[in-house]
Amino acid sequence: MANKEQRIRVAVQKNGRLTDHSIDLLERCGLKFTRSKDRLFCFGENMPIDLLLVRDDDIPGLVSDDVCDLGIVGQNVVEEKRLQREAEGRDALFDKVYDLNFGHCRLSLAAPEERPFEGPESLEGVRIATSYVGVLRDYLDRNNITADIEYFSGAVEIAPRLGKADYICDLVSTGGTLKANGLREVATLLESEAIIIQTRAPLAADKQALVDKILQRLDGVLQVRESKYIMLHAPRSALNEIRDLLPGTEAPTVVPLDGADDRVAVHAVCRENVFWETLENLKAAGASSLLVLPVEKMLA
Ligand code: ATP
Ligand code: ZN
Repeated sequence: MANKEQRIRVAVQKNGRLTDHSIDLLERCGLKFTRSKDRLFCFGENMPIDLLLVRDDDIPGLVSDDVCDLGIVGQNVVEEKRLQREAEGRDALFDKVYDLNFGHCRLSLAAPEERPFEGPESLEGVRIATSYVGVLRDYLDRNNITADIEYFSGAVEIAPRLGKADYICDLVSTGGTLKANGLREVATLLESEAIIIQTRAPLAADKQALVDKILQRLDGVLQVRESKYIMLHAPRSALNEIRDLLPGTEAPTVVPLDGADDRVAVHAVCRENVFWETLENLKAAGASSLLVLPVEKMLA
């Protein structure tokens, strides 16, 4: 069922941690969708780009098999599916095209608090519960360890308490769930965030052009998230010091102030958040009338 249509199809998680962020990002790129909570398909109203809403585990396969042109999914799931396909002797036919800077988490090994851990050698002969069989097996192989991998499709963290495993290997973000289950993180196997993957099947030129356009808009959307527009007045003599204090700025615009030869207005886009400390330092350097504004859109 290769996607030979003229329209672009993007696979997005139907119902989970990545769903709202993924759809929000695409909407900020100017796409509009007819949404319905329990539908699998969202039709793109203003561009030939539609969404397919599926379980996150299915996304790498759908993109690899060219049912969808793009997919938004956690790096953790992508890596697991890549290793699973590899173990079956099949290539994963997709490439990462973008890091999205949300959905941050890590795949970690955790042990009951009282259990000593002195490095991968401590895993020899133990039982480890996980949904990430591929990544865990790869880690054990690379460390020449033989251990029993117990597959759990969910609720991995209760396996040690049920006597089903000695360790677990699961996703962690704050560590709160581990703590609540008397577990402690002992090693990180993988750092993850949400990414966009694209099928390796070549796209028709106009489809590829549209994909490139969306990626360029995404670039703008992600950059402005942290960016601020800053305006201030300053003595001309303090310009160098003020330039150095502006976070993540290339070349600020310097405008003369009417009726004041020695003072100028400085306008700049800061590509990092502007904190109170920065404003206080700018003021100490002679700046006044400081104003920080959010940036809505940016096109480099
Ligand atoms: P599905 O029904 O789509 O299979 P799921 O239960 O596998 O859903 P979610 O729990 O919604 O998935 O997590 C989706 C993704 O969110 C994870 O694969 C991971 O990339 C990311 N994520 C970020 N923080 C966490 C976390 N603390 N625990 C689990 N996943 C996290
Ligand atoms: Zn899942």
